[in-house]
Amino acid sequence: MANRPNRHKWGPRMKRWMVQAISRGKRWMGIVPESPSQVQIEITNRCNFDCVMCQRKDLGINFQDMPFDLFRQVLDRIPASTRTVCLTGWGEPTLHPDLLKMIQLTRDRGKLPIFTTNGVLLKGALGQEILDSGVHTVTFSLDSMDEEEGTLAHWEPAAVIRNVKEFVGRIREGSLPIRTGINTTLHASRADDVCGVIRFAGEIGIDQVSILRLDLRFQPTLRRYSQEEERSVLQRAHRLGRKHSVRVQSILSEHGFGGRFFTLFNRNCPKPFDYLYINWKGEVTPCCNLPTMNLQNILEQDLQQVWKGASLSRFRRKQRELCGKCDVLYYRYHPENLVNGTQDALSPKPS
Ligand code: SF4
Repeated sequence: MANRPNRHKWGPRMKRWMVQAISRGKRWMGIVPESPSQVQIEITNRCNFDCVMCQRKDLGINFQDMPFDLFRQVLDRIPASTRTVCLTGWGEPTLHPDLLKMIQLTRDRGKLPIFTTNGVLLKGALGQEILDSGVHTVTFSLDSMDEEEGTLAHWEPAAVIRNVKEFVGRIREGSLPIRTGINTTLHASRADDVCGVIRFAGEIGIDQVSILRLDLRFQPTLRRYSQEEERSVLQRAHRLGRKHSVRVQSILSEHGFGGRFFTLFNRNCPKPFDYLYINWKGEVTPCCNLPTMNLQNILEQDLQQVWKGASLSRFRRKQRELCGKCDVLYYRYHPENLVNGTQDALSPKPS
């Protein structure tokens, strides 16, 4: 298991835990915070991969970069109390020619810049520049430790695994204050892949693994475990995380009793209660999974006004209707997404 630097000592962890607990407590009571704690900016929708479970081709989006000048204007309209800015849309951020400038500007504005990458370009000079850029968190998308596995999702796994090891190794060597994570998707019959990713994270010193549920709205051929099986796989993954000192996040950790209470026992999705998405045109939308649901262009109205405005309040009230079959953040599956029970019948038992 990798040595972890001082920032993992109890003081900062306790403080972070308390901030999260207060924010969750407010949400349980149905209190919409003053401003979203995280804003995600779609700096590009271009990508160098074509993963089977990615909805980017189904969401009606254009494959474009956000111009740097628009990015600057967007950033200036985000309230001071919003801490985290995620520089990722439905594309690969390292393809944006101004990514480094965007990270630095986000830091200069007193915010925490984070992004998610497939990692294939994160090596050599660019890797070093990112390390020096002031980025707060880099999250990698990785679905399997099988270096031959190229059919499932994120292609070129061998190159990605090599780059992740090198990048995280440089953080550890230099004791750099950069947090790291892995996003991994859970497919039926692939519990071992998720567990392999958690072990890998523990070995090289990655801070967090987030296990994402597949979105079946556009690719019904993707296979999920049945709900019972999903719960059992996730419990196993959380145990493994504790063993390897890796924080594991999943539907299970998001929906303890408090979370279920807040979501009115599966009637609300927690997303629009502390988060907003801004697409490459500067349009504010309630969620990355609804990138064309334009609430308001940020050049016409400050983010704070949109956050407290009538359109978003209406969205929160009518969420179930407006989000359709999306159930990626719910505790339970939406029954209509189980295709006549065939999902259950075809899903292998978790190993
Ligand atoms: S239900 Fe899905 S689309 Fe709707 S806010 Fe939640 S994550 Fe987004």
